[in-house]
Amino acid sequence: MTEYVNVRASQTLGQDDLVAFLRSRFPAATKRVGGRRIAEGTYCVETKVRSDSAEFEEIRDFIQAKRKEGLPSYFNFTIGHYLRKYSKKELCQAEILRLLINPHFEPCGEECGTIYETLCSECNWARQTSDLILDTRRVPQHNDISETIAWVEWVVSSKFVKVFVDSKLTGARFRPIFEFKNPLKVSTDWSQLWVTGNAGALADATRLGRDPFSPLEVSWRCPLEHSVSASFLSEVYLHRNAWNGSDISVTSALFGQGRNLLRPVPLIVISQRMYQAVERAELKGFSCEVAHLI
Ligand SMILES: [Zn+2]
Repeated sequence: MTEYVNVRASQTLGQDDLVAFLRSRFPAATKRVGGRRIAEGTYCVETKVRSDSAEFEEIRDFIQAKRKEGLPSYFNFTIGHYLRKYSKKELCQAEILRLLINPHFEPCGEECGTIYETLCSECNWARQTSDLILDTRRVPQHNDISETIAWVEWVVSSKFVKVFVDSKLTGARFRPIFEFKNPLKVSTDWSQLWVTGNAGALADATRLGRDPFSPLEVSWRCPLEHSVSASFLSEVYLHRNAWNGSDISVTSALFGQGRNLLRPVPLIVISQRMYQAVERAELKGFSCEVAHLI
């Protein structure tokens, strides 16, 4: 595994000094991002460096100095995250893997009429109490799995469902998705992935922090302890005895500071058996990281 840190800096967030520093000091590793959404003349850049490099240390020292000055534009935001690149062999040897869903789309279910019961006013944790209603024309069409901007709504293709059923995988069922334009009609192309497998809590070996530059603090924690807003500074570790052995499962721990349409979300964990099945079928829309049972 090769670990990188992806640093993101934006003039819109008041990080002009960091943008200038990255552009002048690491021109080859820095690229402009955001395209047309970013106002003309306003820079948002990303710089990718190895986490064990002198370059990373130099960037870390720069950001830590800004944070020591107490500048809100450096303190209030997560600046960067880890990227872990694996060889095929490493992924094929992992007992379990963390599944990360890549494509996002909107509007989310609640904007289309899906009903939620909010269970916590602090972190916005909620229970979905109706079937999912979505404008399925907005689902990323060339992907087999995607999620809405609500984070907790996972949409899978009929091909995904077939692979899951044919491979006799365990830990999920598939719920109907009703069409926003015609709420009596169930989509034939898309289903909601409803994970029932339980992966338990995270083991303490999992390192959480604000971002790679402030590893000892998390951004936010629900006062009622449902969820935590933090970056994963290490791979994910789970208790073997708490994992129920399903091919797909979710953690009891929730992540993210939900508000309005956003809900805190568990991590998705899959077995090597499921990894083999989705790879063989060349399903699209996700990436995997190695996770560990201890
Ligand atoms: Zn809460």
